Amino acid sequence: MQDTFRHKGLRKKLVEQLRTKSITNEQVLAAIEKIPRHLFLDLAFLEFAYQDKPFPIGSGQTISQPYTVAFQTQLLDLKPREKVLEIGTGSGYQACVLAEMGVKVFSIERQKKLFEKAKTFLPSIGYQIRLFYGDGYKGLPAFAPFDKILITAGAPCIPEALVQQLRPGGRMVVPVGDGNHQEMTLIKKGEDGTTTIEHYGGFLFVPMLENKAQD
Ligand code: SAH
Repeated sequence: MQDTFRHKGLRKKLVEQLRTKSITNEQVLAAIEKIPRHLFLDLAFLEFAYQDKPFPIGSGQTISQPYTVAFQTQLLDLKPREKVLEIGTGSGYQACVLAEMGVKVFSIERQKKLFEKAKTFLPSIGYQIRLFYGDGYKGLPAFAPFDKILITAGAPCIPEALVQQLRPGGRMVVPVGDGNHQEMTLIKKGEDGTTTIEHYGGFLFVPMLENKAQD
């Protein structure tokens, strides 16, 4: 599958749409304009790759809507070379957007099939991302602390182990809520280790599931 002028044109249009929806971070927009999202979708959805919609990626999971990816990335307020942990690799698209922001990306996925697919696919399109198969609720204590943590599945509550893996001065973005509605939540950890919480409206994600990783 190739990245054609037509795909590039569709991406430009998508970026214009995101601008009208209050995405203002130019680096985020540049990343979305650059990454060939159609390569992350099943062939059957090729025509829809550049609509601002979520889509199935197998194993009952979805690739987030571009607006949601852009919104979460913007909230992280990334600086080059920061260490970022993503929970929910899925197709790997969000991880590539992070990589385009010049940060060091670590990403965890609990579905074995999705993990394995991303592990071969991402390097094939030029992204070297540190991918882990496991339970995101536990984070990656061996690699902590992280400057930023991004959760791309709906968490029933703020995962405490992850807050602990955030460095003082760091930020975590997590959609918090039940199966039907999540509130986009930004957790800021102060230099003294205390946290403040801000809310950014309603979103809909697949659930962040507890305990064991899945084959
Ligand atoms: N960021 C992805 C979209 C993710 S959908 C992308 O860009 O395509 C949410 C993902 O979170 C799913 O793949 C799901 O399997 C994964 N997930 C759910 N609970 C998890 C957990 N506890 N640990 C790690 N991954 C989890």
